[in-house]
Amino acid sequence: MEVHDAHCHYQFAEVPYAAVELARSEGVGYAMINGSSPADWADVAALAARDPRNLPSFGLHPWDVPTAPAGWLDELRRVLVAHPGAGVGEMGLDRWIEGSDPVAQEAAFRAQLALAVELDRPLTIHCVQAIGPLMDILRTTALPRRGFLLHSWNGPVELVPELARLGAYFSFSAHHFPERKAHLRDQFAAAIPRERILVETDAPALCPAPEYRVHELPPSAEGVEQNHPSNLRRNLTELARTMGVTPEPAAALTGANFARLFLR
Ligand SMILES: [Zn+2]
Repeated sequence: MEVHDAHCHYQFAEVPYAAVELARSEGVGYAMINGSSPADWADVAALAARDPRNLPSFGLHPWDVPTAPAGWLDELRRVLVAHPGAGVGEMGLDRWIEGSDPVAQEAAFRAQLALAVELDRPLTIHCVQAIGPLMDILRTTALPRRGFLLHSWNGPVELVPELARLGAYFSFSAHHFPERKAHLRDQFAAAIPRERILVETDAPALCPAPEYRVHELPPSAEGVEQNHPSNLRRNLTELARTMGVTPEPAAALTGANFARLFLR
């Protein structure tokens, strides 16, 4: 049984490549590796060159908007043109992060969205405490023909039907494990159309509680726990349990959805 990771950051130093290789030996297939700023795009490209299952995506994360170098958008266009199969992202809106600049974030969002539409690429969106501004943009702007991923979905159930009509996919992650997130898990059981469900780790971010880990990675220098790529298998198990199915059909479903959104 193979399962594909819809959203991760294998390019970060906290993920040794041996961990990626271990995950592959345990059934992790494709991984959508999201760049977050010009500083890591070359590392994402190097991972894509190393293994065709490492799929590249290039974007400017909202946390990195304040420090983005002048000319980042020209550089993004160049790297996307050089990688015809690549996605756009991780990009998005985040009103939670300290010191966020909503105007600059929205400008970076609109520029990357326009690039994804122009180049016909799938898009990966991060949205935290900004669902209103996100909907304002999605309702009034051209969107990628192939659709877009709302990674680690955390919005209200009422918006799911409209977002699905707009082309949204929704990914399940360890963010949804704690009991206080049961209302989000319920969306994956019923409200979200099955043909729009994906599963992700966000590795090395979103490390689950110890009882959900397949393997461990050393914590960061700051003591932050790191999410091992193999934990995708456990995320799939939890998604399957949430949907009331066994892992095999959940892997087949999310695999077909992954291919429709991300593979040419
Ligand atoms: Zn991410």
